[in-house]
Amino acid sequence: MQSSLIGKVLKARQYAQEPKRIEIENLSLQFRGENGDHTVTYSDRAWHCTCHFFAGWGFCCHTMALERLLGVMVPVKSDYPESLQGAEVLIQTP
Ligand SMILES: [Zn+2]
Repeated sequence: MQSSLIGKVLKARQYAQEPKRIEIENLSLQFRGENGDHTVTYSDRAWHCTCHFFAGWGFCCHTMALERLLGVMVPVKSDYPESLQGAEVLIQTP
């Protein structure tokens, strides 16, 4: 095997451990939710989802799940209402 290929594989493994090197600028995907499929996009540092909840609140379980999955690769997090932050605390309380 060529040593240059081994170097590329090693570099890929290193990069995969360093997600902060990646900043997602545009993203479009289909999210298979429990109640149906939704198109979720991320562009201009903002999320959009075709689900009904997003239309009223500006965030939803789909966008929140993606923020958790993508972590530091999504530079700007959604601004959540205090009531949602309270829900997070309740969930974490045993
Ligand atoms: Zn949604």
